[in-house]
Amino acid sequence: MISSFLEGKATDINKAIGAALLVAMPLLSSGGLAQGASANPKMPFQGSASTSQGTHNDGYGLKAVDFRLPAGTPVLAPENAVVISTCNAGNNHRAIKLRAGTRYFSLIHVNTANIYVGKTYLQGQMIGTVAGDRPWNNCAKSTGAHLHFGVSPSSPVVDGVNIANLRVGTVLRSTNYRR
Ligand SMILES: [Zn+2]
Repeated sequence: MISSFLEGKATDINKAIGAALLVAMPLLSSGGLAQGASANPKMPFQGSASTSQGTHNDGYGLKAVDFRLPAGTPVLAPENAVVISTCNAGNNHRAIKLRAGTRYFSLIHVNTANIYVGKTYLQGQMIGTVAGDRPWNNCAKSTGAHLHFGVSPSSPVVDGVNIANLRVGTVLRSTNYRR
């Protein structure tokens, strides 16, 4: 499976909004919706899944793994987080970057129509579903249904597992649940 995303594709407007959010986030983190953006990130799915590709670096500069998940599987927010970029590779097949306090996540190959920069999610809230189509462009390259999940290299512990050096075929159990 191959996933990639080139940040250079972002529009100037999105960059401006993203910069404004970077300023606003500390305020959000101290209360309101983003409260509890905690040191307890969870897997972006319910149940368990195995890695179809071991840890790799993604186009966002994050440590990432690919999960074997069927098309249509709900993709859940790993933490209380805000969308800082979203790119549509076609048919709402998206590459998404989230920020939760000082931590960043990428979620690629997510099918969702209802997403925009600045949208906030609570941990466990459904962002979309694993996409089944196979776009091949800068925004998302996929040879089949899977979920690419990246985490800040400095804090890649998710559900108690450090994802910085996972091998292909590793089974990961999630404590996340859809809310
Ligand atoms: Zn990947």
